[in-house]
Parts: sequence; structure tokens; C-alpha cells
Amino acid sequence: MKTLLNIISNHPSGTLTGEILLHLPIPFAFLDWNGKLIWKNDFFSDKLFEFDVSKEASFIFEIFPTLDRARWGMLQSSLSELETVKITERIGDSQKKSHSIEIFLQPIRSEEASGVLLCFQSLEDQKELEGIRLLQNEVLESVATGKPISLIMDILCRRVESLATDVLCSVLLVDAGGRLHPCAGPSIPKVFSDAIENLPIGPKTGSCGTSAYRGEPVEVVDIETDPLWEDYKDLALPLNLRACWSTPIKLRDGRVRGTFALYYREPRGASDFHRKMVAACVHLCSLALEHEENQQQIHQLAFYDSLTGLANRNLFKDRANRLISQIKPGMSSIAFIFLDLDRFKTVNDSLGHNTGDLLLKKIAKRLLLCIKPDDTLARLGGDEFLILVPDTNETGVQTLTEKILENIQENVFLDGNEFQTSASIGISMAPNDATDVETLLKYADVAMYRAKAEGRNTFRFYQSEMNEHATARLRMESELRKALVQNEFEVYYQPQVDIRKNSIHGVESLIRWKHPQWGLISPMNFIPVAEDSGLIGAIDFWVLENSLKQWRAWNDSGIMIPNVSVNLSVSDFSGSTLIEKIDDLLKKYSVPAGVLTLEITESLMMEDKPELISTFHHLHKLGVQLSLDDFGTGYSSLTYLQKYPMNELKLDRSFVNALSRNTKADRALINAMIQLGTAFEYRIIAEGVEKVEQLEYLWEKSCYIIQGYYFSKPLPATELITWLRDFSTQP
Ligand code: C2E
Ligand code: CA
Ligand code: CA
Repeated sequence: MKTLLNIISNHPSGTLTGEILLHLPIPFAFLDWNGKLIWKNDFFSDKLFEFDVSKEASFIFEIFPTLDRARWGMLQSSLSELETVKITERIGDSQKKSHSIEIFLQPIRSEEASGVLLCFQSLEDQKELEGIRLLQNEVLESVATGKPISLIMDILCRRVESLATDVLCSVLLVDAGGRLHPCAGPSIPKVFSDAIENLPIGPKTGSCGTSAYRGEPVEVVDIETDPLWEDYKDLALPLNLRACWSTPIKLRDGRVRGTFALYYREPRGASDFHRKMVAACVHLCSLALEHEENQQQIHQLAFYDSLTGLANRNLFKDRANRLISQIKPGMSSIAFIFLDLDRFKTVNDSLGHNTGDLLLKKIAKRLLLCIKPDDTLARLGGDEFLILVPDTNETGVQTLTEKILENIQENVFLDGNEFQTSASIGISMAPNDATDVETLLKYADVAMYRAKAEGRNTFRFYQSEMNEHATARLRMESELRKALVQNEFEVYYQPQVDIRKNSIHGVESLIRWKHPQWGLISPMNFIPVAEDSGLIGAIDFWVLENSLKQWRAWNDSGIMIPNVSVNLSVSDFSGSTLIEKIDDLLKKYSVPAGVLTLEITESLMMEDKPELISTFHHLHKLGVQLSLDDFGTGYSSLTYLQKYPMNELKLDRSFVNALSRNTKADRALINAMIQLGTAFEYRIIAEGVEKVEQLEYLWEKSCYIIQGYYFSKPLPATELITWLRDFSTQP
């Protein structure tokens, strides 16, 4: 045999190599020049058996009765010329089993062997194969042209049934929860399909449910007696379904996504042809289903946000465009709601992105609960959400927005932490504000910024002057970027006086911006811009360094300032290097840590973050003092304060101001705060003291450290020296 294969593979006219011949399901044999069989492959023997020809046949004439010795003799002349010969003959003895077949004869004459290689093919087989090939083409074309899966499966079933008239074909889909859903089955009775709908797959669920469950073909040749059909035969038998062969349809990753089944009207097994057809069809089904899943994934990626599953910007814009194109005069409005979470960056930076993602998912769920089915909720990325509300008016949007703000404010529990979230919302309306999506989105964004600037946790409708404001803001941001490099900042110092000792307690560093064209700009105006644009870190660091450098200069010239207070913003705490930076600066200018007080506003501590608490404790250990600025304006709950190692409370200016109003309620409040602070052993500083009666009242209530215009406005470093000299020479 080996030599034979060598000959074939080396033969100049041979196109098939020996290796391939061995594995091809084609019957072939080798004959000598007299037509005697020298060798045949297994497939050849199988075919002889199928065609009812004795396996013992030793001459070609015994196999093909029409190919007798006389014809062989005539063929031999062509063969001796080494030509390939193709003839059509019949095979089989009895008339009943006779088949038309095509025979190929390949003469071989070499040193190792001499004779004729023969192979043949049944023309009926060929016709069947051609049928399957056409079916394949048709289905593949339907897949490629994006026809719906149920239609593709229907085409497939109808083709199968026309190729094999004795079968009923069915395709079921299996969902992720392991339930069956009829997809196609043009000849399957409707009562039967209806009964299968939503049936869970299982180890004893007819042929299909079982094959899906096992992940392998299940061939039931008699439904009446097979235990797999015990629970379902009463349904099948009256409909004349007697046998069923089901094959699972698997995707590339091994998941069973459906079943392909042939039903018979009599108890029987599948024919050879049916098997070939099923093999081809199951492959087609899995291709089609795989394609469908891919399409869905592509669609999902293109139009949905992967984190929350909400619509993305594309889908939002698509829907908005469609709505806007349908606007007619006199119609109600379309609202664009732009929502941005407040202080989300702090959560993300301090608790990590995973927790941030979890928070976003929770917020998405809450928002979904607030909107109607016709509204579109989208996530733009980050902590920005959009809601498109068709058919509404200002009152309607306002009601919705208030509901959203209320819902978002409810506490969130994540990783064992409790959060209070809030959001700022901007709204634009079509067609009033604009009639193109880009502009409407921009306006809603501008209005959202206004809501942020005006205290957060609120909403604003777009107004035309906001746009100018937004432009001015952008301008300020770009000017701010230059200000540090161009040295436009200066630190002013406001004295804090200990009225018991009549001496200086310390100074608060307050930044000033002298813009070459705009003049002096209040930190109230530019600090929020610096915070939003991420510039605040560099600015605060600059103030800190200059304040320490100044303290060193004072100290070197014999001016003793016991304390320097510097303001820090929330975002200064989000990085991990704050402690090292402060430590480095203290060393660089040889400032004892106890001289430095860091002022932080209440909002920072509202959120209960372990990382922040640990930063505070580190700073405390370093010897740096910590002060709670604007005390009383935020949550004023001392319970969270206890977790932080604070040294000082600064009573907000608004309370000191209220003292002049002289109402009982205001006084009661300030008394309570001083008492509370004293009880916790905090140092208490009153800010914004302007009038002598305020000073006297505070003295009476044992608040002795005073900062305010009563003593001095914030001053440039040199003027502070003059002030100090005057102050210390006062009687
Ligand atoms: P703040 O920390 O509450 O600072 C006290 C503010 O009250 C200062 O305003 C000060 O000039 C003003 N003030 C002091 N005494 C009186 C008074 O008797 N009457 C009145 N009407 N006002 C008084 P300023 O300097 O305009 O700063 C405003 C805010 O800007 C500060 O409020 C602080 O939150 C922020 N800020 C200033 N410098 C910095 C800085 O370097 N970094 C950061 N992050 N924020 C700063
Ligand atoms: Ca302050
Ligand atoms: Ca303050």
C-alpha cells in the first residue's frame, strides 16, 4: 500500500496526494491492466455493501455489470496512452437498487507499480450534496444580508423539508436561563410549538430539551416507548410525530444556543443523507446565531454605555435628532437635562475607580426609576448623565428634576461606606432655546455649570446670559493657567489677635490675584474656577510655600509670628503626596510644624472617607494643626468631627455678622457653637469681626481669638510689619 501511495503522490498527472486519498470519503481501488482488484480502501468496501455488491468481488466486471470485458478492452487503448478516463455506469445487481455512478480511471505506469487507479461517485449522492450546497448558499446569503434570525431559520427548515420530503424540521433557541423558545418549524403544529415555549431544558425533556441539556445529539427512534419522551408523548403522538432526532447548536465558546431537530411521522432513524444534511445545517445555524450575537454586541458597543448599560451619547443624539425633526408649531417642548454628580472626583480618587463605578451604577438605577418609558437616559462618560424628555414643559421638567435631586441625595452604601451624593443639573428646552442637538447640549451644560457655581445640589434652566458667563469663565481659566508662571499672585496676611493677652495669635494667608488688565480679582471669584479646572493644587501649594518662606524671613529678622494658617481645598487631599510635600516644605524653610495650621472647610469632611481620616492623622502626627473653616455653614454635626484630629474651629463670618442683628435665635446659635467647641477642647476663632459690640459679645462668651476688619484687613507682608509695630505699641 505504501508503494501505491508513493506512486500516486509522485505521479506527474496525479493531483491528489496519497495522504489525502487515504482520508477522503471517496471509494477508490487499484486495478491491474486486466481489471483485477489489487487493493481497495474501506470506503470502497462500504459502498459495495451499500449497493448490494459482494465484498468478495475480485474483478471490476463483477462490480459494474455494464462494464464488461469487451468495454474494458476498448478503454484500455486510452488508458495505455496514460489518459484519464471518465465514464458513467450503473452499479448493483437487482434493478431496484441500481444506481447511476460516475467512474474515474487513472492509469499509472512506473517502476514500483503499473495499473489503473479507480474511484467513483454516485450521481444521486452528488445530487443530494448539490442540494445541501444550494441550501448552504441560500442561508449564508440571508445571514450576510442581515435577515432576522427567525426568517433565516424558516428558510433553512423549508429547504430541508423540500430536500427530504419525509421529515419535519424545527429550530429551537435556548436562552441564557436554559429555556426553550421555538424559532422556526414551518410544518410543526402550532399547539406543539406553543407547548414548548419557555420550557426549561433538562435530562428528560424530549429530544430537544435533553440534547440542549446534555450538549450532544439525542436520537429517539420511537417517541412512544422512549423514556425521554415520557412526559411529552401525549402531546406528540396525537400530532403524528413519532420519532425525533435533535442536535444541539453550539457557539464557538461552547454555549448551547439552540437545537436543530428532524421529526418523522413513523418510528425510524435518520438516513445517511439526513445525517449529512443535519451536519451542514447545525453548522449553518451556529454561524447564523454567532453572527446575530456579534451584531448585537457591535450595536451594544456603538449605542450603549458599557458600565451602566444606559444609552450612550450616540444613541442619545440619534433620538434627540429624530424628536427635533418632528417638532411642529404649537407643540410642547423637548427637554435636555444635563446632570453632573457633585464631588464625584473625590470619591474616585480616594476610594478607587471600582467604588466609583459602583456608585455610578447605583445612580444610573436611581435615575431610571425617576423617568418615564418614553424618556431617554444616557451616560456621557464620567459622572455626566443626560435625560431626553419628549413632550413636556417647564413645570413638568422642574417636577422631574426635583424628584431626581431628592432621589440622588438618599444615602448610598458602598463597600461598607456610607455616602451622601448630590448632583447639579442644567436644562435646555427645544425649540425655545435652540433647535439643534449640539447647541442644546451645550446650553444644558452651561446651565449645569451655573447650578454648580450657585451652590451645587440644585438645577438651573438655561438663560441666554449664561452663555456669556460661561465664555467669561473659560477665559478666566486660561488666564489662571498663565497667572502662576507670570507671577500674578500675591499672598496677603490677615492678623488674628488673642484679645485676652492683647497679642498676635497668628495670621491667615489669603491669596490675591493682580491681573495685568482686569486688576485685583477676589479669590471668591477665581478659587471656584481653579477648583473645577484642577489648577487649585498648584495654587494652594504656591501659597503654602510662599507663606512658609515669608515666616522664615520674618523669623530671621526677629519678627515672631506664632502661627500661619493656610487654606486648602477639597481636591488637594485627593493625591497621595500631600503629606510628603508639606513635610518637605517645613524642612526646606526650617519652620516648626506647630506653626502651620491648615484650614479645611466642612464639606470635605462630610464624606466619611477612611483615607482622608488617615491623611489627617498623619498631618496631626507631623505636628501640623488642623482647623475647620466656615464652621456652622455646612452640616455642623460634631459627630463626624470626632473622627478627625482637629485643633481649631473658625466661626463663620455670617454668625458674627448676625450678632449685630441682636436677635435671640442668632445669639443662641453662636452660644451653642462656642460651648460645643469648648467642650471638645477646640480652639475657637471668630472670623469677620468688624464692630466693637461683636468683640465684646464674643469676649463675654469666652471666645478670645479674633480675626476681622476690626483689627485689620488682609495685608501685604510688608504692611503687616507696620501694622504689627503699631499694634504692639498700642496701650
Ligand atoms: P475664608 O477662608 O473664609 O477667608 C476669610 C475671608 O473673609 C477672606 O476673604 C477675608 O478677607 C474675609 N474677611 C476677613 N475679615 C473680614 C471682615 O471683618 N469683614 C468682611 N466682610 N470680610 C472679612 P478673601 O481673602 O476674599 O478670601 C475669600 C475666600 O477665598 C476665603 O474664605 C477662602 O475660602 C478662599 N481663599 C483665599 N485664599 C485661598 C487660598 O490660598 N487657597 C484656597 N484654597 N482658598 C483660598
Ligand atoms: Ca480660611
Ligand atoms: Ca472662613
